[in-house]
Amino acid sequence: MRLKTFKGGIHPPANKLTSQMPLFTLPAPKQVVIALQQHIGAPCQPLVKVGDAVLMGQKIGDHPAAISAPVHSSVSGKVVAIGPVNFSNGKTVNAITIANDGLDNKAEPIGSGKALAELTDLEIRSLIREAGIVGMGGAGFPTAAKLTAPAGKKIEMLVINGVECEPYLTCDHRIILEQSAVILDGIKALLKATGAGHAYIGVKITMEGAIEELHKAVLMEKGIDVVPLVSKYPQGEERQLIYAITGREVPSGGLPLDVGIVVCNIGTAWAVGRLMETGMPLIERSVTVTGAVKKPGNFMARVGCMVSDLIEAAGGYAEEPGSVIMGGPLTGLPQFSTEIPFTKQNTGILVLSKKEVQPAPMTDCIHCGSCIGACAYRLMPLYLAKYAAAGNTTGLEKYNILDCRECGACAYVCPAKLPLLHYMRVGKGYVTAKRAADKK
Ligand code: SF4
Ligand code: SF4
Repeated sequence: MRLKTFKGGIHPPANKLTSQMPLFTLPAPKQVVIALQQHIGAPCQPLVKVGDAVLMGQKIGDHPAAISAPVHSSVSGKVVAIGPVNFSNGKTVNAITIANDGLDNKAEPIGSGKALAELTDLEIRSLIREAGIVGMGGAGFPTAAKLTAPAGKKIEMLVINGVECEPYLTCDHRIILEQSAVILDGIKALLKATGAGHAYIGVKITMEGAIEELHKAVLMEKGIDVVPLVSKYPQGEERQLIYAITGREVPSGGLPLDVGIVVCNIGTAWAVGRLMETGMPLIERSVTVTGAVKKPGNFMARVGCMVSDLIEAAGGYAEEPGSVIMGGPLTGLPQFSTEIPFTKQNTGILVLSKKEVQPAPMTDCIHCGSCIGACAYRLMPLYLAKYAAAGNTTGLEKYNILDCRECGACAYVCPAKLPLLHYMRVGKGYVTAKRAADKK
């Protein structure tokens, strides 16, 4: 069988050290810090004040904007602080700190307990919004907003992203192996919420047991298919996945909806399935903690525990760390401190040793073209890097910097060891700032 895939991309070592390690549910910490922005869009305003008692699953922050998602307490206890805390993006974010009373007293479940067959598409979308479900693959786009097609557009099909293409991360793989029935319930709800006629679940051929497990789950289902894919990076990027599965090409500057498709991460389908089954909002998720830790593993962890709690759960550092990365090695963000809260979008914590992060000596660009071959978006990273270094927004726009998905493939292949991903981020920042200023 010829497996489907996309043009370009790279084959970094998978390093999936934890793929055989079942999800271990962590006990809740003594205190949780619930960030008021765990999504793309408007940050939440607190709905509680210091001294208030809260229940597990209680909504504690929300914003009426269309692009936003509420946040909920992941424990029962008492609000002890509301204010800025350090965040994974290097900035600060407002957060609600709750002292855990250890009782896990639950708030009323979300929804009326109606079965899926009794719910309308609008009701499902409103339950998903109320549960604070966001894209679980790292992007954090509010799911309910994604499921609503604007006037004139129709959602024809769903693509479920189960490829987990970043090296090291295995939390999606474990969710597939251990909770495929919940994922299936989520996909059925997503189909009904969007009116899409078909769902395709993209899974990499190298994810041991995952294709078989999903095949078993969807065997009796009409309109849901499992699509085995080549193991390549960035297969999990929306455009590549859509092209690989359907052959449709999302236009430059466009969205999957322009070709009638909505893409959801497999973790998002799991969160929706769990909401349908239990009425519980998104207060915990699967996460991989791996690399230079004593006991790498996959965990089910409460939103609001600290990154340091997760590292401790993985046995602590195996040696002096060189870098702690939130996410995978290609797109993740290195952290200055581990005293930052774990959020709904966090897929993994990767600890790299000092040896692994030794910077390689950088040279001038040798015009080898490797970065162009690696870029799945057909961009010219070498020119973009030059324009970014010079702050040349005209050049950056001409060479479509905003199409860059920050996948890091160009930086990975560059023999001159140029920090191309860094240049792409800086360049995108210049163009975004210029466009915002032009609008004023
Ligand atoms: S980081 Fe941007 S420019 Fe580099 S390969 Fe990925 S999409 Fe292309
Ligand atoms: S891969 Fe590096 S050295 Fe080669 S053309 Fe691109 S920027 Fe230049």
